Amino acid sequence: MSTSTMPQDKIHAVPSTPTQYIYFFGGGKAEGNGKMKDALGGKGAGLAEMTNAALPVPPGFTIQTEACREYMRSGKVSPEIDRQMDEAMHRLETLQGQHLGRGDNPLLVSVRSGAKFSMPGMMDTILNLGLNDQSVAALAERSKSARFAYDSYRRLIQMFGSVVLEIPKSEFEEVFDAKKKQKKAKLDMDLDAKALQEVVAEYKKVVKKHAKRDFPQDPREQLVMARDAVFQSWENDRAKYYRRINNISDDLGTAVNVQAMVFGNLGETSGTGVGFTRNPATGDREFYGEFLMNAQGEDVVAGIRTPVPILELERVMPKVYGELREITSRLEKHYKDMQDFEFTIQEGRLYMLQTRNGKRTGRAAVRIGIHMVEEGLITKEEAIFRVEPNQLYDFLVPRLDEKASKIEVLAKGLPASPGAAVGQIVFSADAAVKKAGPADKRVPVILVRAETTPEDIHGMQVAAGILTSRGGMTSHAAVVTRGMGKCCVVGAGDLAVSEKDGEMRVGKQVFREGDWISVDGTTGRVIKGKLNTLAASPDNSELRTFMAWAEPFRTLRVRANADIPPDAIQARAFGAEGIGLCRTEHMFFATDRIPHMRTMIMARTEKDRRAALKRLLPMQRKDFIGIFRVMDGFPVTIRTLDPPLHEFLPRREELMVEIAVLEATKPKSPKLKGLRTVLQRVEELHEFNPMLGHRGCRLGISYPEITEMQARAIFEAAVAVAQDGVKVLPEVMIPLTGTRQEMANQAAVVRRVADEVFAEKKKRVEYMVGTMIELPRAALVADEIAQEAEFFSFGTNDLTQTTFGFSRDDINKFLPDYIEQGILKQDPFAVLDREGVGQLVKMATDKGRKSRSNLKVGICGEHGGDPSSVEFCHQIGLNYVSCSPFRVLTARLAAAQAAASDKLKVEGGRTK
Ligand code: ADP
Ligand code: MG
Ligand code: MG
Repeated sequence: MSTSTMPQDKIHAVPSTPTQYIYFFGGGKAEGNGKMKDALGGKGAGLAEMTNAALPVPPGFTIQTEACREYMRSGKVSPEIDRQMDEAMHRLETLQGQHLGRGDNPLLVSVRSGAKFSMPGMMDTILNLGLNDQSVAALAERSKSARFAYDSYRRLIQMFGSVVLEIPKSEFEEVFDAKKKQKKAKLDMDLDAKALQEVVAEYKKVVKKHAKRDFPQDPREQLVMARDAVFQSWENDRAKYYRRINNISDDLGTAVNVQAMVFGNLGETSGTGVGFTRNPATGDREFYGEFLMNAQGEDVVAGIRTPVPILELERVMPKVYGELREITSRLEKHYKDMQDFEFTIQEGRLYMLQTRNGKRTGRAAVRIGIHMVEEGLITKEEAIFRVEPNQLYDFLVPRLDEKASKIEVLAKGLPASPGAAVGQIVFSADAAVKKAGPADKRVPVILVRAETTPEDIHGMQVAAGILTSRGGMTSHAAVVTRGMGKCCVVGAGDLAVSEKDGEMRVGKQVFREGDWISVDGTTGRVIKGKLNTLAASPDNSELRTFMAWAEPFRTLRVRANADIPPDAIQARAFGAEGIGLCRTEHMFFATDRIPHMRTMIMARTEKDRRAALKRLLPMQRKDFIGIFRVMDGFPVTIRTLDPPLHEFLPRREELMVEIAVLEATKPKSPKLKGLRTVLQRVEELHEFNPMLGHRGCRLGISYPEITEMQARAIFEAAVAVAQDGVKVLPEVMIPLTGTRQEMANQAAVVRRVADEVFAEKKKRVEYMVGTMIELPRAALVADEIAQEAEFFSFGTNDLTQTTFGFSRDDINKFLPDYIEQGILKQDPFAVLDREGVGQLVKMATDKGRKSRSNLKVGICGEHGGDPSSVEFCHQIGLNYVSCSPFRVLTARLAAAQAAASDKLKVEGGRTK
């Protein structure tokens, strides 16, 4: 035991090395490196890595994310950070032989945000920082171009004004557009030095008016304000929203990069551009990107001028082009992944400003993975992780039906994100949200804009497709939709879109809100009217190759939820290994069946009920025969009747209205009596909380003849197809049990009927009886229930409802507040809550297997198609997940990746 004699306060006084807040890069080496994304952010890590690789990167320094987190906690930046920043700035000045915003060769810098994960357009960069009324003159003198100097200055005031001082961008744009009009200038570049000087003067007035202060002339003050604004921007609504939909933690914070400026707007031998080492839409091996001569930074992505394809650069500046190709292929080899890069050319000299693993479509991800394995760049095992399970959805996106309809191509744009979308035109994000309606009754809309901005993200989220008249393959719309897996065409220049007037003109035709168009994100076509779409087929040879690498790792089975034979066929095509949930009630809603169902519910005696059930029996049997045939050799889990009976009857309010109308108009109508009886039954069945009411196994316990009929239909169907040589594996599933006795009661009915059918038909089939675990009590007594049940299937939707006490249908009233305030990280109905619901699932599985070692366990909620939930199911040793047919591919890959990371001991390794 050590007894310290040192007083407590002395212990704290022991000097510790202060946190390193700043990482310098320049002069051939960097203090950071490419692995330090947590501290330096993606951009900072990339700049450090490129510097270390001796690539031409303008020098600078990165203020690490810990500074941002400190800022979030305390609302200010500690003196230590300021001290280190001043020191780094001094170092940069010495290296460059310049002073920030001072002297006859003033140093100018950019202040760039950069978090661990790229968040396109979410936080704004400020260029040309350091310019003021003196240094602009020095810059003009030095560059021999007053036009260039004042153009840079007006850009600084504009960016600083909007990002730091939060003045609406439109205030500056109005001034700028008015000046262009006054000078009859078509393009930004057509404004001369004098005009730009006037713009600067007017911009300053805008600043004074809105910010109630002058544009700061002191370069250090500019720097401090810009840095703090970047920190603040981490918390802006757009950034938060982007993080939420992409599952990025709010706690990461952003880094700030301060970097010496290089100028792409110095004249015709200067320029700026962005690109990809491969085609991010198709995955083809081609150099891809766009650039603009005599332009700065954001001009390329903002769609102000339509950029030129990068291959043109070979013609304009062959030497620079060659160098760019050489550098970017080196980067690709170094990172072993497709790179998305930014560069600037200053008077014929190339500078690299950013590189990162590029975002891509699912099809591109698969193709690039395969190509890189062929090229020996990565192994097949690594390739498995190069595709996000959700991205496989791309192979399932619809295509336009070209044959059935007349095709009138209105315009052709760039195929920014594949798939087809057919919908009604809307011109604003708010209109998109309004017209699209709630998620379960979504009306397809196409968001049509000149260009999109981060403010449009809520509209983009609900739209079926996005169409813009401006912008390139790296525009905001293109990048964001590719991430969303949403159809998008950009830069369709023949369209004149006026959001203000709510119209889109093409030649002489005018389209307004509500008009139908069809958009083909695979070819870039914009087509008039409402075409049909064709479901995609997953029968793609590259997809097969890729899945064949991933699948051998997978141990978790993947089944589909399918109620009717066509869904079962679909599910098989996507590789489902059985049906995990076949909901029989869906079969009852068909128009030829609901009358019998209603008669059954209206029956007052068991005899009448049985008579009605007898009519339903052959229909159910026929459905099951269809499904068993499709699933030849694979298990089919059939759930007995689950919803409360009132769901099959007309709604109370509708009945009352109908009765009232008849009473007033045809009081003698013979229909009245019948309606009144139905109403009476509806009122008897009325429950205050039907989700917790007379449903699930409770129905089968009150009315065993219902379970009997369903069991009979299942076993008669099974025997019938077995006689034809089909291998059937029926699993009868009892819903909503909470006690062993409930399970015993229903299992007894099922087993008795099975024996009866087998005896009648003189043929037996293998089968199982099990239960859905949807109540916390069931999970708690799972060991007891498992004595009666041969399998468990966690109904994670209901289990989430009953565990949290959240109604899935009403959660959206408060979920946004919960997420906003960090009370919940995610919607627990979308991503399984591992801590609570997941703990119940794990506990029930373990308990159940204690009673019955070969208990088969799976889940059949919405979570079965969510990659993170699938990973969890793998980790806790479930046998299978079951999801909607369209999620089967995703679940297969997620399960394979989960197993492969176990086996290969790799950390996911997914590209983010
Ligand atoms: P984003 O995250 O929006 O891409 P960036 O920080 O990469 O923001 O910068 C926006 C634009 O400004 C990019 O085109 C980038 O290349 C350009 N840029 C950033 N820093 C500099 C610099 N020091 N010199 C010249 N251009 C720069
Ligand atoms: Mg930005
Ligand atoms: Mg960038």
